[in-house]
Amino acid sequence: MLIVMDKGANPEELAAVVARIEKYGWQPKPIPGGERTAIGVLRNKGPIDPGLFLDMPGVRDVIPVSKPYKLVSREMHPENTIIELSHGDETLRIGDGKLVLMAGPCAVESESQAIEIGHAVKEAGARVFRGGAFKPRSSPYSFQGLGVKGLEILDRVREETGLFIVTEATDHEVLDVVEQYTDIIQIGTRNMQNYRLLKRAGQARKPVLLKRGMWATMDEFLMAAEYILSEGNNEVLLCERGIRTFTKHSRNTLDINAVPYMRSESHLPIVVDPSHAAGRRDQVIPLSRAAAATGVDALIVEVHNHPEKALSDGPQSLYPEQFFKMVQGLKGMNIPL
Ligand code: PEP
Ligand code: MN
Repeated sequence: MLIVMDKGANPEELAAVVARIEKYGWQPKPIPGGERTAIGVLRNKGPIDPGLFLDMPGVRDVIPVSKPYKLVSREMHPENTIIELSHGDETLRIGDGKLVLMAGPCAVESESQAIEIGHAVKEAGARVFRGGAFKPRSSPYSFQGLGVKGLEILDRVREETGLFIVTEATDHEVLDVVEQYTDIIQIGTRNMQNYRLLKRAGQARKPVLLKRGMWATMDEFLMAAEYILSEGNNEVLLCERGIRTFTKHSRNTLDINAVPYMRSESHLPIVVDPSHAAGRRDQVIPLSRAAAATGVDALIVEVHNHPEKALSDGPQSLYPEQFFKMVQGLKGMNIPL
């Protein structure tokens, strides 16, 4: 349930509402808005009688929240969430109407590889560099990432190019160190329901790019995001990266329907990853265009300077020239970048 306060409600009136919520053993969650404050009521077991709050001074309205996810829902938070990043002179806002481009290799393989790709994607228009230092691979014999050395390289990429960094935390312990280096913490598809990891990410001081499980329904995905918000981290980016279907013409199927659905259900910024959805280079640009047309807030795209030699996901990685063309194409569609 959401208790909406009057525009002019004073701190004492707010405190009284909070105290009444606590008196019943529920959890109050104040949500400051542009115009007025609302207070979410969490951890109630059954329906709440709106009459408990409607007569209190400063209370304007009481709105039942029908969804199982509360903090993530647009019912609870009608305005879009904008995530702001900064380092040095650089600032970046994700979710304010412009399409943010995140690009880079699947995995950080060496300093020269990462810096060369970093410069190329920056020149093309990317603002965020992606690259895994800890890789969740289907085979234990595949390249597992450079670990902390990879994170140090990502630091160098930030320094050299001014790009922001997104990189994956594959487990609970790794998140401690990833948090120190990165600007955005990625949680991958395979970990979407790793609740301990989600809770730890909820305590982090960095935004979290949460990828949808390749098997997950929208309810499951939004509940996974709710885990992060419920621990106090409100900065979550919802990333659609393709789901498993019966098709053989792509690695996964980009669930483009998910974009307008997430937009109506949630206030959180939306990201599409066309690379893991496609699994093959020739589909990445068309999928990026489709995603951009639905009004996503960011795209995350794999780009490699030598995809044929890449240690992971080479077949779906764009050449830097292709990424450049992709960006030109988006400009041609009048997508604000
Ligand atoms: C990745 O971004 O390289 C990755 C492993 O993504 P996903 O978790 O979506 O497979
Ligand atoms: Mn990858």
